[in-house]
Amino acid sequence: MPLDRDAAHYLFGVMRLKQGAEVLLFNGADGEWRATVAEAGKRGGTLEPQRRTRPQTMPPDLWLMFAPVKKARTDFIVEKAVEMGVRRLLPVATEFTNSERIRQDRLQSHAREAAEQCGATFVPEVADLAKLPDVLSAWPEDRRLMFCDEAQAGGDGPAARPFAEAGGPGPWAVLIGPEGGFSDRERARLHAMEAAHVASLGPRILRADTAAVAAITLWQLRFGD
Ligand code: SAM
Repeated sequence: MPLDRDAAHYLFGVMRLKQGAEVLLFNGADGEWRATVAEAGKRGGTLEPQRRTRPQTMPPDLWLMFAPVKKARTDFIVEKAVEMGVRRLLPVATEFTNSERIRQDRLQSHAREAAEQCGATFVPEVADLAKLPDVLSAWPEDRRLMFCDEAQAGGDGPAARPFAEAGGPGPWAVLIGPEGGFSDRERARLHAMEAAHVASLGPRILRADTAAVAAITLWQLRFGD
């Protein structure tokens, strides 16, 4: 199996592996494999797969839709979402989103590194930044949406039991807003969506990165395997 330049640099330049060394491989479709280094070069090399060590596993069918925040906190959201088990990450631009652009390739690399770190054999796709109204207009009929609405925090909002009335398992997405929260217009649209389940994450307004971790935790507790 040929290696590209980046993989060769990591294995032979950074990790200093030599011919005959053993590595673990995964491609997101065929589980984890033990392989040996057949050729090691500065710009390339080859691996020889030996045997499958673990079957392919998939995280549950949960998407995380989130408005990008500051760089380090967006990286944190991607990393933790992969560790905690989501199948797809969708960055969305909302009315109050600060970052108009993201480095999708960077976030995808973070997702791969997080999967490697936690021993997952599946790397969730990080989609390119899309506008929230466009995503909602094409919303899949069978996927429920946990709309984490900071306006539900405190006051008369329900306690942090976002899935108490949520029915059975099935495809879900969690939506987390930006630092400035959702606009009234966005809130009205989301409240009117049949697929949306309006959720409180408790009495305090959480930072967006904390809210993402809390929402995924609560979803996993209710529906995860
Ligand atoms: N200014 C802070 C920051 O810098 O991250 C708070 C941002 S909070 C408005 C970001 C998002 O987290 C909200 O749009 C919402 O999706 C979610 N969130 C935070 N606290 C929440 C709560 N108690 N209930 C529901 N969602 C919450």
